[in-house]
Amino acid sequence: RCVANQYAHNFNAFITPLSRAGPWLDRVKEADVRKEQGKPKSTVDGRLISIKDNICTRDLPTTCASGILDQFTSPFNATVVNQLEAAGAIIAGKTNLDEFGMGSNSINSHFGPVKNPRRDSSGEDLSAGGSSGGSAASVAADQCYASLGTDTGGSVRLPAAYTGTVGFKPSYGLISRWGVVAYANSLDTVGIMGKTTANVRDIFDILNRHDPRDPTSLSISSRSRIQAFLQTSHSASRLTSAPLRIGVPMEYNVSELTPSVRRAWALSLAHLKQQGHTVHSVSLPDTKHALSTYYVVGPAEASSNLAKYDGVRYGTRAEGPDGDGKPDGYLFSNTRGQGFGQEVKRRIVLGTFTLSADAIDNYFIKAQRVRRLVQQDFDAVFTAKHPLLSEQGADKIAKENDVDVIICPTAPSSPPQLSDLMNKSTKKSPLDAYVADVFTVPASLAGLPAISVPVTVSGEKDAELAGIQVIGQYGDDQLVMKVGEMLE
Ligand code: GLN
Repeated sequence: RCVANQYAHNFNAFITPLSRAGPWLDRVKEADVRKEQGKPKSTVDGRLISIKDNICTRDLPTTCASGILDQFTSPFNATVVNQLEAAGAIIAGKTNLDEFGMGSNSINSHFGPVKNPRRDSSGEDLSAGGSSGGSAASVAADQCYASLGTDTGGSVRLPAAYTGTVGFKPSYGLISRWGVVAYANSLDTVGIMGKTTANVRDIFDILNRHDPRDPTSLSISSRSRIQAFLQTSHSASRLTSAPLRIGVPMEYNVSELTPSVRRAWALSLAHLKQQGHTVHSVSLPDTKHALSTYYVVGPAEASSNLAKYDGVRYGTRAEGPDGDGKPDGYLFSNTRGQGFGQEVKRRIVLGTFTLSADAIDNYFIKAQRVRRLVQQDFDAVFTAKHPLLSEQGADKIAKENDVDVIICPTAPSSPPQLSDLMNKSTKKSPLDAYVADVFTVPASLAGLPAISVPVTVSGEKDAELAGIQVIGQYGDDQLVMKVGEMLE
């Protein structure tokens, strides 16, 4: 069983691993019996699924890789954890991440950095991507069958690209966020990581349900309305074998793309053409503003969400008077000063600033406007209009050059070396990590489904891997996975 490998290699993928012996072993045996009888509970019955440590579990701690929650265990399970357990899956430990999901390399962790199970050709340790780097490493190293991560601005897709696994971010609102520790509510989604798109789809089908406890979970009636709408907007044929129209956004063809990423992109397009699909260049002009918009909206929401970790309501409490001590010695400031890491503090300061009275118009409000433009960019190129803006949708006349899905790289380059990221003298600025998200944040801002699949290209010495991303219209999750599967 793959769990055996969990102890063979240590990539620091887990903050809380599954104990070697435990009641879960009996549950695997029970599932085996059910399978023998031909009555498995689901496709994941008895499978080990690891969970990112910002998703609440009753039986294991939930630390968010933060010093401030290092002693925290939730009194309840997140809805997604209950759904997986009801389907017979076994929670295979809690995976390492960037603190509260903030980062792109899984090095901003109170529990140390995650190592990518793949190394570069000189044997150097590589970044596993972030923030769901532990989830990605646990899947890549066969320490579990699949993993749940979270994707706010690319945190499932980027680690998938770096580790050679599949990472899927569904449309916003399809999978419940109840019990998922909030980073930026309007962007947060639960994402799924696996070895293949087929595995990911099986898990998506279990989790893709309305949850009355999550106010942003799409209602049952909206779900059926969206599906009916997509059926009539060319989707019927798109789910059969009719040729697809594939969009290639010109704005993603930036000079920073490394040769292997560029080759993987070209290969993927050639492969789809060979299968009879057609490739069309499209323009998403507001892409260039997406990254800066994301880094205004994300930290603004985070600064508000993280206010509750004060050592009183939540969090590991630091010593200090709660009233009339020295100005810098209060319980709140000590707790937050000691509990949060550098990157989280940076985001809190940034978010507090952009929401402040003097700055809000110029930053937060403007970012909301640009966010809408990014969404409209996508809407303008897809054959199907956004199903939730259905007045527009009803009148939408498909233009000749509309496309069914968009294909682009997941990240501009291959994983950086860990030593480069951690070494004080070569230490990169935070902006370097932000830039890795340039191709993932547009779909997050627009709430669209996107998947990253590994594509192998033969490099100078040995085969190189790059992640290729498929982005679809809101609600078109099945089509996105279908195209992802074609590229595997
Ligand atoms: N790297 C991005 C950030 O730091 C994405 C994080 C995420 O999706 N959780 O915000």
